[in-house]
Amino acid sequence: MNSYIKNVIEDVENRNSNEKEFIQSVHEVLETLEKVIDNNPDFEKNGLLERLVEPERVIMFRVPWVDDNGKVQVNKGYRVQFNGSIGPYKGGLRFHESVNLSIMKFLAFEQTFKNALTGLPIGGGKGGSDFNPKGKSDNEIMRFCQSFMNELQRHIGADLDVPAGDIGVGAREIGYLFGQYRKIKNLYEAGVLTGKGLSYGGSLARKEATGFGLIYFMREMLKANNMTLEGKTVTISGSGNVAIYAAQKTLEYGAKVVAMSDSNGCIWDKDGIDLAEIKRIKEVERLRIKEYLKKYPNAVYMENVKGEIPAVYTIKTDIALPCATQNDINLETAKLLVSNGVKAIGEGANMPTTIEGIKYFLENGILFAPAKAANAGGVATSALEMSQNSMRCPWTFEEVDEKLDRIMTNIFATCKHTAEKYNLGKNYLAGANIAAFSKVADAMIAQGII
Ligand code: NDP
Repeated sequence: MNSYIKNVIEDVENRNSNEKEFIQSVHEVLETLEKVIDNNPDFEKNGLLERLVEPERVIMFRVPWVDDNGKVQVNKGYRVQFNGSIGPYKGGLRFHESVNLSIMKFLAFEQTFKNALTGLPIGGGKGGSDFNPKGKSDNEIMRFCQSFMNELQRHIGADLDVPAGDIGVGAREIGYLFGQYRKIKNLYEAGVLTGKGLSYGGSLARKEATGFGLIYFMREMLKANNMTLEGKTVTISGSGNVAIYAAQKTLEYGAKVVAMSDSNGCIWDKDGIDLAEIKRIKEVERLRIKEYLKKYPNAVYMENVKGEIPAVYTIKTDIALPCATQNDINLETAKLLVSNGVKAIGEGANMPTTIEGIKYFLENGILFAPAKAANAGGVATSALEMSQNSMRCPWTFEEVDEKLDRIMTNIFATCKHTAEKYNLGKNYLAGANIAAFSKVADAMIAQGII
């Protein structure tokens, strides 16, 4: 490995030794940059990589709130403003009990490159809390969001930092967060948050964007390799926002979704999943996926067992779409998927595959759509929401969807072209990393040592 990259990685490991997800994401990016770094000795003089791996700002705060029993609860709140060189920080908020600084930093680091790939002027950020929304009443969710925003409002703004949703943060939470921001600031600053409801500045097709975008990327990747989605079987991990709309677009292209999951387990329906029923269970009733069996008793439910391969990946499939969480597919899972004949992987979630898993897929000729490129449709459409807010003029669903399709098609072309330019074959992950890095590096160098 190039000695500059090696030294920076070692330094990151030593100085952030308890941040395993962040370290993993730094490895994943930096290890693919060898050829660019070799060609640009100036980067080392500029301390470019050292600056790139250190967030511009990390904000951590207390989030006190009162539960329905009148008891005071305290959660941790975070906002990581990683890199603002190409635009205002932009990235979602995650509410999940597993949230910690390492996860926030990995997500914000990844976001920096993802946002660069969209071709839109947005920098990288991410935030969230270790608050667990499961089982909380609407009023508890509202009080939590209000308390979270009481502090966050000091650090965000339409030209400064624009949060959106992620795991555990959907339209309901964005509504409560926006309401509190508006009340505190006494200002209708529509562009301060994205993923808003349609009645108050949201964009049509934002809800669908990450899942649809993933499938547009998959369509392009398959096309470049003389394949199509039609007739393929698809398994999807997760049944949240990304998973549901990836499933919808998959069906539109004539493929069959045979399994979906949540953190407890997966349902497997050989005849093809009834997506309307999944939407009812997850979007309306907020229940567990197992509920599907009540309407479809012939479907199979498989429970996840801690430490074992997630049930959804034990099913034979042409295409697997990890759309739940990070490190869902490790080497063992990758081996099982390959031995079961998988042809392509599309990462809807952020960093769902471990580095060993990715290497195994690439070595075995599996088409691999990397998260920072394949799931960039969500943030790209968030940027389109910001444009509509600035213009004070909404676009139709078709206009936004058409722009999203064009952006995803361009992102795939960039990944492919860059991989070919650097003789990296079908390594679209390296293509994505190099293209995104080159853009961010250029902006950072132009702006001096800051
Ligand atoms: P949601 O909260 O809507 O859904 C998350 C889904 O993943 C649920 O089915 C959830 O199951 C499952 N899940 C969450 N944590 C775990 C876990 N530890 N193990 C197994 N399953 C888990 O989130 P999104 O759909 O918005 O996000 C999913 C992924 O996509 C995340 O990695 C996110 O960062 C990424 N992403 C999201 C974007 C967006 O626009 N929303 C944009 C780009 C990336 P359960 O209900 O049981 O917890």
